[in-house]
Amino acid sequence: MKGIHRQLATAAAVLAALTIGLIGTPAGAAPPAAKPDSAAKPAAVDNDDVYTVERLANGQTRIGLHQHAGNAEALRRDLRAAGKNVLSAGQAPPGGSMSPLACVSYGTAVQWCDHAWGYGGFNDPQVYFLDHTPAGFPVTAAVADWYQSPGIDAYYRWHTAGCPGGGRHCVHVRTYSPGPNEFGVTYWSPNAPNGPVDVYLANHMAGTNQARKSTCHELGHALGLGHNSSTNSCMVQGRIGAGWSLRPSSQDFEVLNRVYPRPGT
Ligand SMILES: [Zn+2]
Repeated sequence: MKGIHRQLATAAAVLAALTIGLIGTPAGAAPPAAKPDSAAKPAAVDNDDVYTVERLANGQTRIGLHQHAGNAEALRRDLRAAGKNVLSAGQAPPGGSMSPLACVSYGTAVQWCDHAWGYGGFNDPQVYFLDHTPAGFPVTAAVADWYQSPGIDAYYRWHTAGCPGGGRHCVHVRTYSPGPNEFGVTYWSPNAPNGPVDVYLANHMAGTNQARKSTCHELGHALGLGHNSSTNSCMVQGRIGAGWSLRPSSQDFEVLNRVYPRPGT
């Protein structure tokens, strides 16, 4: 009896499928091609932090937070093969106690814990991005986006203009040539509220929307942000997909407002 029931059920399912096909497809037209898996369900965002830790000649520890192209483990393998000291997934980098603030979060945005600029005598920390990059790297546009944030003031300068000094901070933005699994890296030392902070952007992105997103991303790290878990923010990890933002979100701005709480100018 069970076998007969199964056969009847199968026959009913085939009939239903045929009926749907007849209704949905005009006579003579080819049935629509099945969508590939990637179009049907977008891959989950791999928002894993990839850190390298190195000891500089001056004894300072330098932490690199690397922007991967959507596969954190692939980038860790690349970096290890290149001889870098890479932290494992979930391993926190050595932090300092320079910031009296707890690690701040708001919505899907978070602070890069233990990293915050000193005020240097101003109402908002003054951060100058010194641009060394060739054409195809929208540093000007990305700085203009971050300038909209409360709490901290981001300014653009071509690198030959130099660092203005007087309690103002400077971040050098350069290009480099990593493999295809890496888009950028920001270096910061613990217990260093006056820097140095350095940003590197992957040459292979030049002139693309990815360069816009990844430049925004690294400048956000330089200001003190960690990874946003939403594709509404350039602070999310990975290769951009349809509908992904190339710019900061209002939640990124709110975290910066809380990391740097002094009333601004
Ligand atoms: Zn990042």
